[in-house]
This record gives sequence, C-alpha cells and structure tokens, in this order.
Amino acid sequence: MSKFTGYRCSVCAANYGPDEVTYTCPVDGGNLDVLLDYEGIKELSVDDLILQDEPSLWRYLPLLPVSNPGGYGTPLRAAGWTPVFSPTPLEEKLGLKNLWIKDESSNPTASFKDRASAVLLARAREIEAEIVVTASTGNAGAALAGLAAAVGHKAVIFAPKTAPPAKIAQLQVFGAKVLLVDGNYDAAFDLSVQASKEFGWYCRNTGYNPFTAEGKKTAAFEIWEQVMKDSSIEHQFSIFVSVGDGNIISGIHKGFKDLLELGLIEAVPRIFGVQSDESAAIANAFNAGSEEIKPVSATTRADSISVDMPRDGLRALRAATQTGGAYVLVPDSEIIASIAELGKVGIFAEPAGATSYAGLAKAVSDGLIGPDDPVVVMNTGSGLKDVKAAMQAAGEAPIIEPTIEAVKQFL
Ligand SMILES: *Cc1c(COP(=O)(O)O)cnc(C)c1O
Ligand SMILES: [Zn+2]
Repeated sequence: MSKFTGYRCSVCAANYGPDEVTYTCPVDGGNLDVLLDYEGIKELSVDDLILQDEPSLWRYLPLLPVSNPGGYGTPLRAAGWTPVFSPTPLEEKLGLKNLWIKDESSNPTASFKDRASAVLLARAREIEAEIVVTASTGNAGAALAGLAAAVGHKAVIFAPKTAPPAKIAQLQVFGAKVLLVDGNYDAAFDLSVQASKEFGWYCRNTGYNPFTAEGKKTAAFEIWEQVMKDSSIEHQFSIFVSVGDGNIISGIHKGFKDLLELGLIEAVPRIFGVQSDESAAIANAFNAGSEEIKPVSATTRADSISVDMPRDGLRALRAATQTGGAYVLVPDSEIIASIAELGKVGIFAEPAGATSYAGLAKAVSDGLIGPDDPVVVMNTGSGLKDVKAAMQAAGEAPIIEPTIEAVKQFL
C-alpha cells in the first residue's frame, strides 16, 4: 500500500512509474515532481495525517513517498518540527502585524538540509543503497553525513575547498569520506554525479534527486500546522525563503500544493525568493519575465546560496510566479546586517539564513508587503556554521585590563 505513485517532469510533463527513473527526466533533464496517491490519502482524516506523538518531520509520514525508516533514538528522528518565533521588536521595526521566523538552526546538523537528507536516507534504505553521495556547499553534505552516520550508512561528500571551516569540520566529524574540490560548487556537483554513475552510489544532489524536495516540503506542512491551520487571520500568508539552487523554495511550494490538492488549504501562500545580487540567476529570470535561467558568476559571501547555475531554477521561479510572490534581490551588506538584526532577538543565522529576512525588509520598503500581510521568514541555517560572517556582523569585543576602572571606561 505505497502512497508513492510515480513522477512528473517539471519541463515536459511526462509521467514515469516509481521504478522507471531515479533522478531527472531522461528526455530533457528536467526535475521530477514526486506524485502521491492523493485520492487514497484523502480518505484519511486530518488526525490520521498528522502523527501527533512525532516531534519531527516524521509526523507527516502519511504524506511522504517513503515508508518509516526506523532509526528511533537517533538524530534521523529529530529532523524538522523546528520552532517558530514571533519577535515583537522586528514586527515593530518593519511595521507588520504578524511576523514569524521559522528557525531551522535547531535541526540535528543545524540547517534546513536535514529535512531533505532524512527523507533521502529513508529512500536509500528502501532501495538498499549502501553508499550515499552528495555535492554540497557544506550544509547538504553535513546533513547527509550526520544522518547517514546516525543510521549506519556510508557517505561521500564533494564540497568546494572554499567551504567555511565549521561546515568542513562537521563533515569530518561525522566520518564521511570528504573530498574537497579545487573548484566551485558547480564543479563539485558535476563531479559527484559522475562519481555516482561510475561507482553506483545513490546521489542526493539538490535539484537532481526528486526526494530532496519531498523532505523539504515538510517545512510547508509545519508552517501550516504551526501558524496557519488554527489562525483567524484572513489575509493571505507570505513566505520568505533564501534561494541558491532553488530546491528549498520548490520543496516548500510542493508542500503547499500537496495541502491544496488534499483540500486542507484554500490557496497557496505567496512565496518570495530572496537572492544576493551577487548570485542572482533566478531573480534575473523573474525580472526578465522569462523562464529561461541563465548562469551567472556567483561571488556572494552567503556561501550556501552561491550558485552559478541553479539546479532547480525552473521550479524555483514558478514557486514565485504561480503564487503571486516575487523574487527580491539584496546586497551582501544587507545580508550581513541582517545577521545582527536577527541576533538582537536571539536568533543566530548564517549569511544565507539571514538573507530571507533582508529580503523581507526590502519587500516592505518596496511596498510588496504591507502591514496586514502575515509573513513567515525562514532562517535556514545556524550562525555557528560561519563564525567569520558572524564576527563581521557583530564586530569585535574590546579587551580590557582586569580592573573596575577599565570596566567603567567601556560602559
Ligand atoms: C542550501 C541552503 C539554502 C538554499 O537552498 P537552495 O535549495 O539551494 O535554494 C539557503 N540557506 C541555507 C542555510 C542553505 O544551506
Ligand atoms: Zn521531461
């Protein structure tokens, strides 16, 4: 009785059976959407759809295309079900009545990527794939390495040698086979695909393996359950997401489309993608009113969203165009400043995590978002992932003589 019924190509709309393909459309290389047995799922009540005693993304197992992966008592069971905060000072600052920040830093390896890796490992177990591989700017690799270690799979990670040291340290500590590529993320991506073909490893790559978006869609279910489901707010919600390859935003869009298909919501929220103006491939297409995504030469300080050619660009673009959202561009200086803004309300974000908040501030000043719009901003990763950027945002602390006079001088 599997809920997983096959795939549909996001480019040519061809359908494939569950065992017909593994990664992308064989005809045009398009990303595949996972199809579920919605009619069968509709027979379940909301109480049966949400497993209340699972404080993790596994509470939505009835809506996932995998069976229960086990792994009880391990970090695999702790991915997702992250907190939402509503910081009044930021609401006041932006002039919004309802603002939530969904904090993904509390995931087991401290980023949103754990959602994808958790579901990916469930799939790996089903197809009996012993070795999993991914290319990563750091977080996807850490998530795969950490959760694979948790349930006894071997992981191979290709990352650019310029990845922040904290992310590389995580990869190493989790015992993955780590290969640092003397090139950028795009080079690591191509190499990992080649290696997965050569050695028969199961490849997790973002915007390549269709199961990553299925993990990421659980954030939409949580936003729905935590802030929308019992809300009396009548205005349409807006969701702000930082975008690199475009798989998080596509996954969140898919989650809301699932909820719509199941009749659990009446409309999909407006979805806003935020990019650095130094890594703007998808925003450029949005601004040009085109579905053709052209590569850029990315240089942003926000390493997790530094991407030349987005691997999930088309679906990421449609997440905004099909929901009445938009793409917003912010300079790196605003991204770094936003780390400090979020820090002042007790939320610690890495640059890519703070990018979505910077995008909201821009959208408010551009009039895209008004006071009555309820907004959810995703902090996608922990500030501990990139300590250098945090120091840049917050400045250095003074060093003083151990005397009370010296203290007085600095107060
Ligand atoms: C991967 C990542 C993103 C961007 O996700 P994409 O799917 O590449 O668009 C944003 N923030 C953080 C912290 C990430 O790790
Ligand atoms: Zn196709």
